[in-house]
Amino acid sequence: MEAPCIVWIRNDLRLHDNPALLAACKTGKPVLVCFIWSEGDQDPYPLGGASRAWLHDSLAAFSHSIDDRLILRKGKYKEALHLLVQETGARQVFWNRRYEPHLIEKDKEIYQHLTDSGVEVQSFIGNVLFEPWQIATKNSKPFQVFTPFYKTILKLEPHAPVETCGKIHHYSSPKLASETLSGLQLLTRNPPIDSWTPGEKGALTALDTFIHGPLAHYLQGRDFPGIEGTSKLSTHLHFGEISVRYIAKHLMGPEAQEFYRELIWREFAIQLLFHFPHTAQEPLKKEFESFPWRLDPEQLSCWQQGNTGYPIVDAGMRQLLATGWMHNRVRMIVGSFLVKHLLLSWKEGASWFWEKLFDADLANNTLGWQWVGGCGADAAPYFRIFNPILQGQKFDPEGTYIKHWVPELRDVNPKDIHMPRNPIVELDFGRMRALEAYQEMRNG
Ligand SMILES: Cc1cc2nc3c(=O)[nH]c(=O)nc-3n(C[C@H](O)[C@H](O)[C@H](O)COP(=O)(O)OP(=O)(O)OC[C@H]3O[C@@H](n4cnc5c(N)ncnc54)[C@H](O)[C@@H]3O)c2cc1C
Repeated sequence: MEAPCIVWIRNDLRLHDNPALLAACKTGKPVLVCFIWSEGDQDPYPLGGASRAWLHDSLAAFSHSIDDRLILRKGKYKEALHLLVQETGARQVFWNRRYEPHLIEKDKEIYQHLTDSGVEVQSFIGNVLFEPWQIATKNSKPFQVFTPFYKTILKLEPHAPVETCGKIHHYSSPKLASETLSGLQLLTRNPPIDSWTPGEKGALTALDTFIHGPLAHYLQGRDFPGIEGTSKLSTHLHFGEISVRYIAKHLMGPEAQEFYRELIWREFAIQLLFHFPHTAQEPLKKEFESFPWRLDPEQLSCWQQGNTGYPIVDAGMRQLLATGWMHNRVRMIVGSFLVKHLLLSWKEGASWFWEKLFDADLANNTLGWQWVGGCGADAAPYFRIFNPILQGQKFDPEGTYIKHWVPELRDVNPKDIHMPRNPIVELDFGRMRALEAYQEMRNG
Protein backbone atom coordinates (compact mmCIF):
# COMPACT_ATOMS: atom_id res chain seq x y z
CA MET A 1 0.00 0.00 0.00
CA GLU A 2 1.09 3.58 -0.65
CA ALA A 3 2.91 5.22 2.30
CA PRO A 4 0.49 7.05 4.58
CA CYS A 5 0.17 10.55 5.91
CA ILE A 6 0.31 10.26 9.70
CA VAL A 7 -2.07 12.26 11.89
CA TRP A 8 -0.87 12.44 15.47
CA ILE A 9 -3.94 12.89 17.68
CA ARG A 10 -3.45 14.53 21.06
CA ASN A 11 -6.05 16.76 22.73
CA ASP A 12 -8.22 16.82 19.61
CA LEU A 13 -10.21 13.62 19.88
CA ARG A 14 -12.86 14.53 17.31
CA LEU A 15 -13.76 14.40 13.65
CA HIS A 16 -15.44 17.81 13.30
CA ASP A 17 -13.25 20.88 12.88
CA ASN A 18 -10.06 18.87 12.99
CA PRO A 19 -7.66 20.69 10.65
CA ALA A 20 -4.83 18.14 10.90
CA LEU A 21 -7.13 15.27 10.03
CA LEU A 22 -8.75 17.22 7.21
CA ALA A 23 -5.40 18.19 5.72
CA ALA A 24 -4.27 14.56 5.86
CA CYS A 25 -7.43 13.43 4.07
CA LYS A 26 -6.85 16.08 1.44
CA THR A 27 -3.40 14.76 0.56
CA GLY A 28 -5.16 11.88 -1.15
CA LYS A 29 -2.78 9.46 0.57
CA PRO A 30 -3.93 6.74 2.96
CA VAL A 31 -4.25 8.16 6.46
CA LEU A 32 -2.77 6.65 9.59
CA VAL A 33 -4.33 8.09 12.75
CA CYS A 34 -2.27 7.47 15.88
CA PHE A 35 -2.25 8.29 19.57
CA ILE A 36 0.87 7.91 21.70
CA TRP A 37 0.72 7.36 25.44
CA SER A 38 3.91 8.57 27.06
CA GLU A 39 4.09 8.99 30.81
CA GLY A 40 7.65 10.33 30.65
CA ASP A 41 6.88 13.06 28.13
CA GLN A 42 4.17 14.51 30.37
CA ASP A 43 6.69 15.53 33.02
CA PRO A 44 6.47 17.59 35.15
CA TYR A 45 2.66 17.38 34.89
CA PRO A 46 1.71 13.70 34.55
CA LEU A 47 -2.02 13.25 34.05
CA GLY A 48 -4.08 12.86 37.22
CA GLY A 49 -6.24 9.81 37.89
CA ALA A 50 -9.46 11.47 36.71
CA SER A 51 -7.90 12.68 33.45
CA ARG A 52 -6.49 9.23 32.72
CA ALA A 53 -9.89 7.63 33.19
CA TRP A 54 -11.56 10.16 30.91
CA LEU A 55 -8.82 9.73 28.32
CA HIS A 56 -9.43 5.99 28.35
CA ASP A 57 -13.09 6.36 27.48
CA SER A 58 -12.46 9.19 25.07
CA LEU A 59 -9.90 7.14 23.12
CA ALA A 60 -12.39 4.27 22.90
CA ALA A 61 -15.07 6.62 21.56
CA PHE A 62 -12.73 8.26 19.07
CA SER A 63 -11.38 4.97 17.77
CA HIS A 64 -14.95 3.75 17.32
CA SER A 65 -15.76 6.87 15.29
CA ILE A 66 -12.95 6.02 12.84
CA ASP A 67 -13.97 2.38 12.40
CA ASP A 68 -11.65 1.23 15.19
CA ARG A 69 -8.62 2.21 13.14
CA LEU A 70 -6.84 4.30 15.77
CA ILE A 71 -3.27 3.07 16.16
CA LEU A 72 -2.19 3.21 19.80
CA ARG A 73 1.44 3.27 20.75
CA LYS A 74 3.19 3.47 24.08
CA GLY A 75 6.56 5.11 24.77
CA LYS A 76 8.34 8.39 24.17
CA TYR A 77 6.62 10.55 21.56
CA LYS A 78 9.73 11.04 19.45
CA GLU A 79 10.74 7.39 19.36
CA ALA A 80 7.19 6.17 18.77
CA LEU A 81 6.66 8.54 15.83
CA HIS A 82 10.09 7.73 14.45
CA LEU A 83 9.18 4.04 14.50
CA LEU A 84 5.83 4.62 12.82
CA VAL A 85 7.52 6.60 10.06
CA GLN A 86 10.10 3.83 9.58
CA GLU A 87 7.53 1.06 9.57
CA THR A 88 5.23 2.74 7.05
CA GLY A 89 7.57 4.88 4.96
CA ALA A 90 5.40 7.93 5.74
CA ARG A 91 6.80 11.27 4.54
CA GLN A 92 4.24 13.50 6.21
CA VAL A 93 3.16 13.93 9.84
CA PHE A 94 0.36 16.33 10.79
CA TRP A 95 -0.89 17.49 14.18
CA ASN A 96 -2.94 20.25 15.81
CA ARG A 97 -0.96 22.59 18.01
CA ARG A 98 -1.03 22.49 21.80
CA TYR A 99 0.11 25.34 23.98
CA GLU A 100 1.31 24.05 27.35
CA PRO A 101 4.95 25.19 27.50
CA HIS A 102 6.41 21.78 28.40
CA LEU A 103 4.53 20.19 25.48
CA ILE A 104 5.56 22.93 23.06
CA GLU A 105 9.17 22.03 23.88
CA LYS A 106 8.47 18.39 23.02
CA ASP A 107 6.74 19.35 19.78
CA LYS A 108 9.66 21.54 18.72
CA GLU A 109 12.10 18.71 19.35
CA ILE A 110 9.98 16.23 17.42
CA TYR A 111 9.47 18.70 14.58
CA GLN A 112 13.23 19.12 14.30
CA HIS A 113 13.87 15.40 14.43
CA LEU A 114 11.31 14.56 11.76
CA THR A 115 12.24 17.36 9.39
CA ASP A 116 15.93 16.43 9.77
CA SER A 117 14.93 12.94 8.64
CA GLY A 118 13.23 14.37 5.56
CA VAL A 119 9.67 14.06 6.87
CA GLU A 120 7.35 16.99 6.25
CA VAL A 121 5.60 18.18 9.43
CA GLN A 122 2.55 20.41 9.35
CA SER A 123 0.87 21.77 12.46
CA PHE A 124 -2.48 23.53 12.66
CA ILE A 125 -4.52 25.72 14.95
CA GLY A 126 -7.03 23.32 16.44
CA ASN A 127 -8.12 24.00 19.99
CA VAL A 128 -8.36 27.76 20.44
CA LEU A 129 -10.23 30.70 18.95
CA PHE A 130 -7.03 32.73 18.74
CA GLU A 131 -3.44 31.61 19.10
CA PRO A 132 -1.75 32.88 22.25
CA TRP A 133 0.71 35.07 20.35
CA GLN A 134 -2.05 36.68 18.30
CA ILE A 135 -3.44 38.98 21.01
CA ALA A 136 -1.19 41.63 22.51
CA THR A 137 -1.35 45.06 24.13
CA LYS A 138 -0.61 48.22 22.14
CA ASN A 139 3.00 47.83 23.31
CA SER A 140 3.10 44.29 21.96
CA LYS A 141 3.15 42.82 25.47
CA PRO A 142 0.99 39.92 26.66
CA PHE A 143 -2.15 40.93 28.54
CA GLN A 144 -2.14 40.25 32.27
CA VAL A 145 -5.62 41.59 32.97
CA PHE A 146 -8.73 39.96 31.59
CA THR A 147 -11.01 42.89 30.69
CA PRO A 148 -8.72 44.62 28.17
CA PHE A 149 -7.84 41.22 26.73
CA TYR A 150 -11.54 40.49 26.28
CA LYS A 151 -12.27 43.92 24.77
CA THR A 152 -9.46 43.43 22.27
CA ILE A 153 -10.80 40.04 21.30
CA LEU A 154 -14.31 41.37 20.81
CA LYS A 155 -13.02 43.41 17.90
CA LEU A 156 -11.64 40.32 16.19
CA GLU A 157 -13.18 37.51 14.26
CA PRO A 158 -12.16 34.08 15.59
CA HIS A 159 -10.84 31.44 13.23
CA ALA A 160 -13.70 29.62 11.54
CA PRO A 161 -14.12 25.86 11.91
CA VAL A 162 -13.00 23.72 9.00
CA GLU A 163 -15.18 21.15 7.27
CA THR A 164 -15.29 17.57 8.50
CA CYS A 165 -13.38 15.19 6.29
CA GLY A 166 -15.67 12.67 4.64
CA LYS A 167 -14.77 9.01 4.59
CA ILE A 168 -11.21 8.46 5.77
CA HIS A 169 -9.10 6.30 3.48
CA HIS A 170 -7.30 4.39 6.23
CA TYR A 171 -3.81 3.05 5.84
CA SER A 172 -3.72 -0.63 6.37
CA SER A 173 -0.89 -3.06 6.66
CA PRO A 174 -0.86 -6.47 8.31
CA LYS A 175 2.50 -5.58 9.85
CA LEU A 176 1.23 -2.45 11.62
CA ALA A 177 0.79 -3.22 15.30
CA SER A 178 -1.32 -1.31 17.77
CA GLU A 179 -1.28 -1.43 21.55
CA THR A 180 -4.62 -2.35 23.11
CA LEU A 181 -6.45 0.34 25.04
CA SER A 182 -6.23 -1.68 28.24
CA GLY A 183 -2.50 -2.05 27.58
CA LEU A 184 -2.11 1.69 28.17
CA GLN A 185 -3.16 1.07 31.80
CA LEU A 186 -5.01 4.33 32.12
CA LEU A 187 -7.55 3.07 34.64
CA THR A 188 -5.36 2.90 37.71
CA ARG A 189 -6.90 5.45 40.04
CA ASN A 190 -10.18 6.07 38.30
CA PRO A 191 -13.01 7.98 39.91
CA PRO A 192 -16.64 7.20 38.90
CA ILE A 193 -17.29 8.37 35.35
CA ASP A 194 -20.87 7.16 34.98
CA SER A 195 -22.50 10.59 35.08
CA TRP A 196 -20.54 11.68 31.99
CA THR A 197 -20.30 10.64 28.36
CA PRO A 198 -16.70 11.08 27.21
CA GLY A 199 -16.17 11.43 23.46
CA GLU A 200 -17.30 13.60 20.59
CA LYS A 201 -20.91 12.40 20.60
CA GLY A 202 -21.26 13.14 24.31
CA ALA A 203 -19.70 16.56 23.77
CA LEU A 204 -22.02 17.51 20.92
CA THR A 205 -25.04 16.31 22.91
CA ALA A 206 -23.89 18.38 25.91
CA LEU A 207 -23.61 21.46 23.68
CA ASP A 208 -27.07 20.85 22.21
CA THR A 209 -28.61 20.38 25.67
CA PHE A 210 -26.96 23.58 26.86
CA ILE A 211 -27.98 25.65 23.83
CA HIS A 212 -31.60 24.53 24.14
CA GLY A 213 -31.68 24.86 27.93
CA PRO A 214 -29.42 26.73 30.37
CA LEU A 215 -27.97 29.14 27.77
CA ALA A 216 -31.17 31.22 27.79
CA HIS A 217 -30.59 32.04 31.49
CA TYR A 218 -26.83 31.71 31.59
CA LEU A 219 -26.09 35.08 33.18
CA GLN A 220 -28.47 34.51 36.10
CA GLY A 221 -27.99 30.74 36.32
CA ARG A 222 -24.24 30.31 36.03
CA ASP A 223 -23.51 31.27 39.63
CA PHE A 224 -26.02 28.94 41.29
CA PRO A 225 -24.60 25.47 41.89
CA GLY A 226 -28.00 24.00 42.82
CA ILE A 227 -29.29 24.29 39.26
CA GLU A 228 -28.04 23.11 35.89
CA GLY A 229 -26.92 26.58 34.84
CA THR A 230 -23.67 25.96 32.93
CA SER A 231 -22.60 23.93 29.93
CA LYS A 232 -20.43 21.29 31.63
CA LEU A 233 -18.31 21.34 28.48
CA SER A 234 -14.97 21.89 30.23
CA THR A 235 -13.69 18.31 30.00
CA HIS A 236 -14.90 17.91 26.43
CA LEU A 237 -13.06 21.12 25.60
CA HIS A 238 -9.92 20.05 27.40
CA PHE A 239 -9.67 16.78 25.47
CA GLY A 240 -10.70 18.46 22.24
CA GLU A 241 -13.80 16.31 21.86
CA ILE A 242 -15.53 19.49 20.84
CA SER A 243 -14.00 22.40 19.01
CA VAL A 244 -14.20 25.80 20.68
CA ARG A 245 -14.60 27.36 17.23
CA TYR A 246 -17.54 25.08 16.53
CA ILE A 247 -19.12 26.15 19.84
CA ALA A 248 -18.58 29.84 19.09
CA LYS A 249 -20.16 29.43 15.67
CA HIS A 250 -23.26 27.80 17.13
CA LEU A 251 -23.90 30.34 19.87
CA MET A 252 -27.04 32.39 19.38
CA GLY A 253 -29.31 34.61 21.43
CA PRO A 254 -28.75 37.45 23.90
CA GLU A 255 -27.06 35.28 26.55
CA ALA A 256 -24.54 33.93 24.06
CA GLN A 257 -22.29 36.92 24.66
CA GLU A 258 -21.97 36.03 28.34
CA PHE A 259 -21.06 32.48 27.48
CA TYR A 260 -18.58 33.64 24.84
CA ARG A 261 -16.95 35.68 27.59
CA GLU A 262 -16.28 32.47 29.55
CA LEU A 263 -14.74 30.88 26.49
CA ILE A 264 -12.46 33.91 26.35
CA TRP A 265 -11.42 33.23 29.97
CA ARG A 266 -10.14 29.93 28.65
CA GLU A 267 -8.20 31.74 25.90
CA PHE A 268 -6.86 34.16 28.51
CA ALA A 269 -5.61 31.28 30.65
CA ILE A 270 -3.93 29.62 27.67
CA GLN A 271 -2.13 32.81 26.62
CA LEU A 272 -1.02 33.53 30.20
CA LEU A 273 0.56 30.13 30.62
CA PHE A 274 2.10 30.41 27.18
CA HIS A 275 3.74 33.76 27.95
CA PHE A 276 4.48 33.05 31.63
CA PRO A 277 5.38 29.35 31.70
CA HIS A 278 6.73 29.53 35.26
CA THR A 279 3.23 30.27 36.62
CA ALA A 280 2.28 26.59 36.72
CA GLN A 281 4.78 26.36 39.61
CA GLU A 282 5.28 29.90 40.87
CA PRO A 283 2.91 32.81 41.42
CA LEU A 284 2.73 35.43 38.69
CA LYS A 285 3.04 38.10 41.37
CA LYS A 286 6.62 37.58 42.49
CA GLU A 287 6.10 38.97 46.01
CA PHE A 288 3.96 35.90 46.81
CA GLU A 289 6.95 33.60 46.44
CA SER A 290 7.82 34.41 50.06
CA PHE A 291 4.26 34.08 51.37
CA PRO A 292 4.29 32.27 54.74
CA TRP A 293 1.96 29.37 53.89
CA ARG A 294 1.23 26.88 56.65
CA LEU A 295 1.68 23.14 56.46
CA ASP A 296 -1.16 21.21 58.09
CA PRO A 297 -1.78 17.73 56.65
CA GLU A 298 -4.73 17.12 58.95
CA GLN A 299 -6.65 20.21 57.91
CA LEU A 300 -5.68 19.66 54.28
CA SER A 301 -7.20 16.20 54.48
CA CYS A 302 -10.41 17.59 56.05
CA TRP A 303 -10.66 20.01 53.13
CA GLN A 304 -9.95 17.31 50.54
CA GLN A 305 -12.55 14.94 51.96
CA GLY A 306 -15.23 17.60 52.50
CA ASN A 307 -15.11 17.61 56.29
CA THR A 308 -14.35 21.22 57.15
CA GLY A 309 -17.66 21.87 58.91
CA TYR A 310 -18.61 24.60 56.40
CA PRO A 311 -21.54 23.23 54.41
CA ILE A 312 -20.91 24.90 51.04
CA VAL A 313 -17.20 24.01 51.17
CA ASP A 314 -17.93 20.40 52.09
CA ALA A 315 -20.62 20.14 49.42
CA GLY A 316 -18.16 21.29 46.76
CA MET A 317 -15.36 18.98 47.84
CA ARG A 318 -17.74 16.03 47.97
CA GLN A 319 -19.16 16.88 44.54
CA LEU A 320 -15.59 16.77 43.25
CA LEU A 321 -14.92 13.35 44.80
CA ALA A 322 -18.22 11.91 43.57
CA THR A 323 -18.34 13.34 40.04
CA GLY A 324 -14.85 14.55 39.07
CA TRP A 325 -16.25 18.06 38.54
CA MET A 326 -17.19 21.08 40.65
CA HIS A 327 -19.28 24.13 39.92
CA ASN A 328 -17.20 27.26 39.17
CA ARG A 329 -18.70 29.37 41.97
CA VAL A 330 -17.94 26.60 44.44
CA ARG A 331 -14.39 26.18 43.08
CA MET A 332 -13.86 29.82 44.03
CA ILE A 333 -15.38 29.32 47.50
CA VAL A 334 -13.43 26.16 48.37
CA GLY A 335 -10.27 27.69 46.89
CA SER A 336 -10.58 30.86 48.91
CA PHE A 337 -11.27 28.82 52.05
CA LEU A 338 -8.12 26.72 51.57
CA VAL A 339 -5.83 29.59 50.75
CA LYS A 340 -7.17 32.25 53.09
CA HIS A 341 -9.00 30.66 56.02
CA LEU A 342 -6.69 27.66 56.28
CA LEU A 343 -3.61 29.50 54.99
CA LEU A 344 -2.53 26.48 52.96
CA SER A 345 -0.79 27.07 49.64
CA TRP A 346 -2.71 27.39 46.37
CA LYS A 347 -0.36 24.69 45.08
CA GLU A 348 -1.92 22.15 47.47
CA GLY A 349 -5.32 23.02 46.03
CA ALA A 350 -4.10 22.97 42.45
CA SER A 351 -2.53 19.54 42.83
CA TRP A 352 -5.66 18.05 44.46
CA PHE A 353 -7.80 19.44 41.63
CA TRP A 354 -5.25 18.13 39.12
CA GLU A 355 -5.70 14.60 40.44
CA LYS A 356 -9.48 14.69 40.90
CA LEU A 357 -10.95 16.88 38.14
CA PHE A 358 -11.88 15.33 34.83
CA ASP A 359 -11.38 18.77 33.30
CA ALA A 360 -7.95 19.24 34.95
CA ASP A 361 -6.23 21.70 32.65
CA LEU A 362 -2.85 23.23 33.32
CA ALA A 363 -3.78 26.69 32.03
CA ASN A 364 -7.26 26.97 33.57
CA ASN A 365 -6.29 25.36 36.86
CA THR A 366 -3.26 27.61 37.28
CA LEU A 367 -5.29 30.71 36.47
CA GLY A 368 -8.14 29.65 38.78
CA TRP A 369 -5.88 28.90 41.74
CA GLN A 370 -3.76 32.00 41.41
CA TRP A 371 -6.94 34.02 41.09
CA VAL A 372 -8.36 32.70 44.36
CA GLY A 373 -4.92 32.96 45.95
CA GLY A 374 -4.68 36.63 45.03
CA CYS A 375 -1.25 36.03 43.50
CA GLY A 376 -2.00 35.75 39.79
CA ALA A 377 -3.24 37.81 36.89
CA ASP A 378 -6.35 39.89 37.37
CA ALA A 379 -6.44 38.56 40.90
CA ALA A 380 -9.02 39.23 43.52
CA PRO A 381 -6.87 41.20 45.98
CA TYR A 382 -5.53 38.93 48.67
CA PHE A 383 -7.36 40.79 51.44
CA ARG A 384 -10.76 40.30 49.76
CA ILE A 385 -11.75 37.09 51.50
CA PHE A 386 -14.85 35.07 50.59
CA ASN A 387 -17.07 34.31 53.56
CA PRO A 388 -18.35 30.75 52.96
CA ILE A 389 -21.52 31.36 55.00
CA LEU A 390 -22.52 34.48 53.05
CA GLN A 391 -21.52 32.86 49.75
CA GLY A 392 -23.73 29.89 50.56
CA GLN A 393 -26.66 32.12 51.53
CA LYS A 394 -26.31 34.12 48.34
CA PHE A 395 -25.71 31.39 45.79
CA ASP A 396 -27.52 28.42 47.33
CA PRO A 397 -30.33 30.22 49.18
CA GLU A 398 -32.55 27.16 49.62
CA GLY A 399 -29.60 24.90 50.40
CA THR A 400 -30.49 22.65 47.44
CA TYR A 401 -26.88 22.05 46.49
CA ILE A 402 -25.77 21.50 50.07
CA LYS A 403 -28.57 19.04 50.80
CA HIS A 404 -27.60 17.01 47.76
CA TRP A 405 -23.92 16.66 48.62
CA VAL A 406 -24.07 16.82 52.42
CA PRO A 407 -27.01 14.51 53.09
CA GLU A 408 -26.65 14.74 56.87
CA LEU A 409 -28.03 18.31 56.51
CA ARG A 410 -31.04 17.19 54.46
CA ASP A 411 -33.55 18.10 57.17
CA VAL A 412 -32.06 21.44 58.19
CA ASN A 413 -34.13 24.47 57.17
CA PRO A 414 -32.65 26.89 54.61
CA LYS A 415 -32.23 29.63 57.21
CA ASP A 416 -29.78 27.53 59.28
CA ILE A 417 -28.23 25.28 56.70
CA HIS A 418 -25.26 27.52 55.91
CA MET A 419 -24.04 27.73 59.49
CA PRO A 420 -20.85 25.81 60.33
CA ARG A 421 -20.93 22.66 62.44
CA ASN A 422 -17.75 21.70 64.33
CA PRO A 423 -15.64 23.85 61.99
CA ILE A 424 -11.93 23.12 61.65
CA VAL A 425 -11.24 26.85 61.88
CA GLU A 426 -13.24 29.86 63.10
CA LEU A 427 -13.78 32.32 60.26
CA ASP A 428 -12.64 35.38 62.21
CA PHE A 429 -9.49 33.64 63.39
CA GLY A 430 -8.66 32.38 59.87
CA ARG A 431 -9.28 35.81 58.41
CA MET A 432 -7.05 37.57 60.94
CA ARG A 433 -4.28 35.04 60.46
CA ALA A 434 -4.48 35.46 56.69
CA LEU A 435 -4.23 39.23 56.90
CA GLU A 436 -1.29 38.99 59.28
CA ALA A 437 0.47 36.63 56.89
CA TYR A 438 -0.15 39.07 54.06
CA GLN A 439 1.35 41.91 56.12
CA GLU A 440 4.34 39.72 57.00
CA MET A 441 4.96 39.11 53.30
CA ARG A 442 4.59 42.84 52.51
CA ASN A 443 7.03 43.76 55.24
CA GLY A 444 9.52 41.30 53.75
C1 LIG B 1 -9.67 27.19 41.65
C2 LIG B 1 -10.17 26.95 40.24
C3 LIG B 1 -9.66 25.90 39.48
C4 LIG B 1 -10.12 25.67 38.19
N1 LIG B 1 -9.59 24.62 37.47
C5 LIG B 1 -10.02 24.40 36.20
C6 LIG B 1 -9.48 23.33 35.42
O1 LIG B 1 -8.57 22.60 35.85
N2 LIG B 1 -9.99 23.12 34.18
C7 LIG B 1 -10.98 23.92 33.66
O2 LIG B 1 -11.40 23.67 32.52
N3 LIG B 1 -11.47 24.95 34.35
C8 LIG B 1 -11.04 25.22 35.59
N4 LIG B 1 -11.56 26.26 36.31
C9 LIG B 1 -12.51 27.19 35.63
C10 LIG B 1 -14.00 26.85 35.75
O3 LIG B 1 -14.33 26.57 37.08
C11 LIG B 1 -14.44 25.67 34.87
O4 LIG B 1 -13.96 25.84 33.55
C12 LIG B 1 -15.95 25.56 34.82
O5 LIG B 1 -16.48 25.39 36.11
C13 LIG B 1 -16.34 24.37 33.97
O6 LIG B 1 -17.72 24.18 33.97
P1 LIG B 1 -18.57 24.47 32.67
O7 LIG B 1 -17.97 23.81 31.49
O8 LIG B 1 -19.99 24.12 32.99
O9 LIG B 1 -18.43 26.04 32.53
P2 LIG B 1 -19.25 27.15 31.67
O10 LIG B 1 -19.72 28.15 32.61
O11 LIG B 1 -20.30 26.43 30.87
O12 LIG B 1 -18.15 27.75 30.77
C14 LIG B 1 -17.86 27.30 29.43
C15 LIG B 1 -16.39 27.06 29.26
O13 LIG B 1 -15.65 28.25 29.45
C16 LIG B 1 -14.40 27.96 30.07
N5 LIG B 1 -14.35 28.65 31.36
C17 LIG B 1 -15.39 28.98 32.17
N6 LIG B 1 -14.94 29.63 33.26
C18 LIG B 1 -13.60 29.68 33.17
C19 LIG B 1 -12.57 30.22 33.98
N7 LIG B 1 -12.83 30.85 35.13
N8 LIG B 1 -11.30 30.09 33.58
C20 LIG B 1 -11.00 29.48 32.42
N9 LIG B 1 -11.93 28.95 31.58
C21 LIG B 1 -13.21 29.06 31.95
C22 LIG B 1 -14.34 26.46 30.28
O14 LIG B 1 -13.67 25.87 29.20
C23 LIG B 1 -15.82 26.09 30.29
O15 LIG B 1 -16.06 24.76 29.90
C24 LIG B 1 -11.12 26.52 37.62
C25 LIG B 1 -11.63 27.57 38.39
C26 LIG B 1 -11.17 27.79 39.68
C27 LIG B 1 -11.75 28.92 40.48
